[in-house]
Amino acid sequence: MFVTFNYICKISTHPPYLEINLSSIAGLAAAKQTENDNFISFLKTLDGKAVDGIVHPLTESISAQIDCSNCGNCCKTLMINITNEEADKLSGHLQLTRNNFDEQYVEKGSNGMMIMNKMPCHFLNNNKCTVYENRFSGCREFPAMHLPDFKERLFTTFMHYDRCPIIFNVVEQLKSKLNFSNNT
Ligand code: SF4
Ligand code: SF4
Repeated sequence: MFVTFNYICKISTHPPYLEINLSSIAGLAAAKQTENDNFISFLKTLDGKAVDGIVHPLTESISAQIDCSNCGNCCKTLMINITNEEADKLSGHLQLTRNNFDEQYVEKGSNGMMIMNKMPCHFLNNNKCTVYENRFSGCREFPAMHLPDFKERLFTTFMHYDRCPIIFNVVEQLKSKLNFSNNT
């Protein structure tokens, strides 16, 4: 996952063409709400391993064509969960006490949950993650399309479909690969 504000509207020159303009993706996502609800219902009828067998190569191919450093929308718009171990590691890297780190960067819920207290992320600077080697596991995993059991993450995938060009394009190409039609 990653960073930048200088988002350049770029369309891949290799078919199938990729949509990476964030405004266009947001607009298309709104227009496709019903279609996507139907697609989710359709996906639930399919074998999970077979779906993974399509999603993973699509993810590999599309991720290779999208430059996250020209997007960074996840670092600007996502609520980042933090574990104690991650906070310990990053506070050490920043040479801060845990108390100082928590005061500056962390919001704590009554249930012990910790999140970064600012969006865009504090550590996004000049379109780069300044703590890249020590970034959180959620940052490393996002958009999680490479992980097993895609079908078990439909809710979160479609929650981020309107903000992440990788998710958007994988889902759109998955519809084609599965011959999904919104009219059937
Ligand atoms: S939102 Fe998606 S495409 Fe954009 S930087 Fe994050 S992972 Fe990459
Ligand atoms: S820690 Fe780095 S990768 Fe994670 S949200 Fe912040 S800037 Fe992005």
